[in-house]
Amino acid sequence: MPGGGAPEAALLGLLGLLVGSFLNVVIHRLPKMMELHWAAECEDLHAGTDASQPPRPAAEPFNLMVPRSRCPHCGHQIRWFENVPVFSYLALRGKCSQCATAISLRYPAVELTCGALFAWCGWQWGLGWEAIAWCGFSAAVLSLAGIDWDTTLLPDDITLPLLWAGLCAAGLRLTDTVLPDALWGAVGGYLSLWLVYWAFKLTTGKEGMGYGDFKLFAAFGAWFGWQALIPIILMASVIGAVIGIGIKLKGELREGGYVPFGPFLALAGLTAMIFGSSAILAVIGL
Ligand SMILES: [Zn+2]
Repeated sequence: MPGGGAPEAALLGLLGLLVGSFLNVVIHRLPKMMELHWAAECEDLHAGTDASQPPRPAAEPFNLMVPRSRCPHCGHQIRWFENVPVFSYLALRGKCSQCATAISLRYPAVELTCGALFAWCGWQWGLGWEAIAWCGFSAAVLSLAGIDWDTTLLPDDITLPLLWAGLCAAGLRLTDTVLPDALWGAVGGYLSLWLVYWAFKLTTGKEGMGYGDFKLFAAFGAWFGWQALIPIILMASVIGAVIGIGIKLKGELREGGYVPFGPFLALAGLTAMIFGSSAILAVIGL
């Protein structure tokens, strides 16, 4: 039933490379923006009780647009022709033009992944609202995976709009999920992980995941319907366990022994988009 073809795939693929370049900024800056916001709130709270505090100097603007990107090593401002997705990385041979420090392979990897996902959407749905919806889904899930991997945070600023968008997409018939299935998917996704969280916490005293995981799983319930919840959680858990054990064996476990679950949920969600959730069960052998 593909509604698109090669031209649509190429067009959206190019758009995906550009969006991927922006997602690198989101992944890098959104957690820092949240931290600055929390710090400012704490200060405001504190200042309210302490009138002797001098007023806080206005902070330099820091958001997704300003300041311009710089090399984290030497501060060299990245010029527009050094910021062309993937191609600049290749032209610069993966090094800063000023100080020759290696640029993380993750930047072109995120751009290529986003480009490939958008191209697939163009191939599958052509140019239309369905493709726009699923491109938005891909971009949000990709950025969540990157942020959770780096910081073990899944920002509400992305998970909650993703959830609402899934319900709206079902209501507008942009997904194959009917609205009641999407609604119960969202409820079931949140509640199931919430229950697992508390069962785990009450029996072991540890926190196995965060509230962000519940919200992301709820969003997947909204996009794919409640029927997809079990396939998605199974795939995320199996891959998460394998990678988690691998990280442990390599001795690269982070402080607190915590492996973020969001990237594996994200991988399962993107797999469900491309192959359908029933295909996941087939691969696992159920
Ligand atoms: Zn540099």
